[in-house]
This record gives sequence, structure tokens and C-alpha cells, in this order.
Amino acid sequence: MTMLLGYVALAVVMLGVGFTLTHLLRSSVGRWDEHVNAHFARHRTAGWNDVTKLATSTMNTLPVVVSAAIVLEMDQQVCRRASVVLGGVAPIPAAEEWLYLAHTEDHVKRVRETCERGGGMLDADTTVCAKSYEIAMLSLGGVLTACDVVMDGRAKRAFAAGRPPGHHAEPDRAMGFCLFNNAAIAARHAQKRYGIDRAAVVDFDVHHGNGSQDIFWSDKTVMYCSTHQMPLYPGTGARSERGEHDTVVNAPLSPGDGGAKFREAFENVILPRLRDFRPELIVISAGFDAHQRDPLANLNLVEADFLWATQKIMEVAQASASGRVVSMLEGGYDLEGLSNSAAAHVSALMQG
Ligand SMILES: [Zn+2]
Repeated sequence: MTMLLGYVALAVVMLGVGFTLTHLLRSSVGRWDEHVNAHFARHRTAGWNDVTKLATSTMNTLPVVVSAAIVLEMDQQVCRRASVVLGGVAPIPAAEEWLYLAHTEDHVKRVRETCERGGGMLDADTTVCAKSYEIAMLSLGGVLTACDVVMDGRAKRAFAAGRPPGHHAEPDRAMGFCLFNNAAIAARHAQKRYGIDRAAVVDFDVHHGNGSQDIFWSDKTVMYCSTHQMPLYPGTGARSERGEHDTVVNAPLSPGDGGAKFREAFENVILPRLRDFRPELIVISAGFDAHQRDPLANLNLVEADFLWATQKIMEVAQASASGRVVSMLEGGYDLEGLSNSAAAHVSALMQG
């Protein structure tokens, strides 16, 4: 019971909380969306849909951290009400020092200063407004909180539902809606703060995580594994891209491949390498844009495929990582597909 209460308390501000708070949060999302461009707005709104879905379906038993990327738009009264319901834990922005585990000072400065000037384009897809830097630090803060919860033993697994996502962000460049690479920072945060030697990042977003691959290319202590559609944005992720120490594992899939080919890629390519690597923590870049309803790609996965992959990753974690899994939201652009897939993913994380 104590653990359960702990989980609920850790649901960084808006987990559950019923109709009233959901309504208030949705209003906040609406206000925020006035300030950002269509791409970014779509990304964030999508994130909120599965947050509310998760909140209503799994609140009472959920070892999950939800990052409140929208909290800056909530007034103090709303924050207080949320805190009362949830046990007084507010979302905490990540400390800037953690960014440097994966990014250059120039990159951090460029993002921050663009926001300070009121916003602008960081690349063709990636627009920021005045508050984007703060929001990105809250999104990362949720991820690092999830990481802390798992690494210090309060929970075996955690899921951070925050936006903006991260896996396209390279050391010196924002890309594809991503400002900072949450997954990469989480893996290195666990190594630095908790002293583990080996971590793995498993990425089943339909797009290749070029940023994560780039960050870990020469790092033999972190394995990066990805299934993704190819050809597709960003163009990287060929099987021949293996990293300096053969710790990059790419399993590209063709448009239209579907669940059977996805599972085959996991069984034959990803999982054997992951097992051999014996990671002490598995970080999941959980994008749900490979879902059959998603408008940006054609991999035709369904909820059961995400649930299956999650269970397989958990089996590896059980064998070498004391079960530790930290998962975080990446892409996903069809609200229904995203909501249902995230719920399936989290329901798997809750098992065992
Ligand atoms: Zn994606």
C-alpha cells in the first residue's frame, strides 16, 4: 500500500484526477496551442490525449510518472488543487547540467536564446516559442524523475508521458520536433548518478532515432536498438550503421510490413543483441507512429504489437537489469491510435 501511495504521489501533477482537472488541463492546452505552430501543437495535443486516457484507465495501480509539460500554463490555483489530489508532488524542471550529457553548450544556448527572443524555427519542422525551453525542461524533468524512481528502487518500471519528444535531437542540433534527447540523457543520467555500467535504448518509434544513434555512436557502454520504417524521415538507420563498437543495432522495415515483420525484426535482430549486451537499465523510446492509423507512416502495427514488444523488452530487463525499464513518449500523430497504443504499452509495463 505504501508503494502504491508512493506511485500515486509521484504522478508528477496531473495523473488521474478526474473530470475537473482534465477539463482545466485541456483549457491550458488550448491556451498554449495559440502560441505554437501546427506541427508543434499537434505533437503536444497528441501527448495530452494519451495522458488523459491513461489517467482515467489506470490511475490506481500505475507505476507511471507523467510529466506535466503543460504546467506552466496552469495558474497557481490549479496547481494547488492538483497537488492536493495527488499528494503534493509538483513537476520539477530538469537541471540544465543534465543537458550536457548529450548536447553541446552551443546547442543548449541556441535553443534557449531563440526562446528568449520570442521563438523561431530551429529546423524545417521544429519551431519554438517563448516558453518552449521551459516546457522542454519539464518534459526532460519528467523523464529524469521516472529514471530516479526506477533506479532508486521505488518502482521497477516507469513511463513518462511528456512532450516535446527527443530521439531526433543530435548533440548540436534540434530536429523533427525534438529539442533535447530525453532518452539519451536518461541513459547517461542513470550511469552517472547511479553508477551502472551498461544501459540500452530501445526505440520502436516509426522514425529512426538519428539523434540517439549519433550520441551513442562511439559509446560502447550504451546499446542503441531501433525498428523503423525505411525509407522515411530522417533517412538514417540502415542495417549497416553499427557504431564504432558494434553497439548500434538497426532493424529497418519496409512500408506496409505490418506486425509479423515487426515481431520478426525484434526476435531475430534486436532481442538477441540486447540479451548479449546485458544492460543494467533499458530505456524505451516509445513512439506510437508505427500504428496503422498514423498519418505519417505505413508500418500498420496495432496495439497488440506494442504490448508484445514491451513484454519482450521487459523479459530482457528481468534477466540482466533487475527488471528496470524507463519508458518515454516519442512520436504518434493519430490521437486514437496513440491513446490506445500508449495504454497497451503501459498495461504491459504494469504486469509483474
Ligand atoms: Zn516518429
